[in-house]
Amino acid sequence: MTDSFDPGTVARLSGSLLRWFRKSAREMAWRETRDPYRIWISEVMLQQTRVEAAAPYYRRFLARFPDVRSLAGARLDRVMKAWEGLGYYARARNLHRAARIVVERYGGKVPGTAEELSALPGIGRSTAGAIAAIAFGADEPVLDANVRRLVARLFGVGGDPKTASVRKILWEGSARLVAEGKGRDTALAAMDLGATVCLPRAPRCGECPVRFFCVAFRAGTQEEIPPRTSRKAVPHHDVVAALFRRPDGSLFLVRRRLGGLLGGLWAFPSGKRTPGETLETALRRTVREKLGVRATIQRKVGVVSHAYSHYRITLHGYLCEAPGGRIPSDAGAGWLSRGGRGRYAIPRADRKLLELIQQEDKL
Ligand code: SF4
Repeated sequence: MTDSFDPGTVARLSGSLLRWFRKSAREMAWRETRDPYRIWISEVMLQQTRVEAAAPYYRRFLARFPDVRSLAGARLDRVMKAWEGLGYYARARNLHRAARIVVERYGGKVPGTAEELSALPGIGRSTAGAIAAIAFGADEPVLDANVRRLVARLFGVGGDPKTASVRKILWEGSARLVAEGKGRDTALAAMDLGATVCLPRAPRCGECPVRFFCVAFRAGTQEEIPPRTSRKAVPHHDVVAALFRRPDGSLFLVRRRLGGLLGGLWAFPSGKRTPGETLETALRRTVREKLGVRATIQRKVGVVSHAYSHYRITLHGYLCEAPGGRIPSDAGAGWLSRGGRGRYAIPRADRKLLELIQQEDKL
């Protein structure tokens, strides 16, 4: 990190940041509260979701689980249902586990230190810092993606922020921004400035309150810091799904394994097509392996595409029939009633297939 930042300069820099924040703070539902539980929920939602997309989920989630005890006491299925559509479902599973720990270990009171918070499932160092700072006013630094970019440019930290050595320097930079007793406002100010002014591309340096301190601005290297990493090719898979339908129109779903991808969600029985297989062969094999029955394929319902964080799929849905209409049903299986309402949290791609078949029903 550049050594042009003596303590006096850092104090003026923090002062500029905080003055800007007093005028420009973004309004968000979770900023109207100091309730650590609510702030925790918002920070977890914001880990991988934009503010505008998270806002309606935040309201709905809190309407169902207004405090840590209600979340801890809920069945996982209800929590997953409240999270349906938000993606990155490990966040919901971890929230649920962490709520139970908070009840058992802390008597239902969310712990107030970053150290205790970061020991809970799903709470990394930055989220812990954010909750401690925003809810409890602790002088803790944060380093979400927006703050990482801001700090890197401000202090002229080149290098890949994913590496441990660069990450360490960025944490030090973020900690230097925290004015004593101003942990909450500093965290929020840095997050807001990173999100609204110090943008990934074309940062709005002309309106930036800390531009006169900013190493990257002075050197004209804003666009080079942090360095762009080349995007890896995203793998693609063809996935086949079997839709079994009862005469009353309800559809068969299975619950995905908890430890796996989309764990805990309810989906049509499905599997990847392996190289050389036709889609129909893959479908029959999948149904045999997963349900132990031989499926008769009636017809194709449709094809949908979906992108997950690390790969893309093309999901081919087929209406199928089991011999004698019998499918093994146990605790990990269920029937979604016609119309698609109910308690099941369903992945986006399966939801799209479901919409196709529901549209057919209306014709
Ligand atoms: Fe970011 Fe520009 Fe502000 Fe520097 S001057 S912190 S690059 S917006």
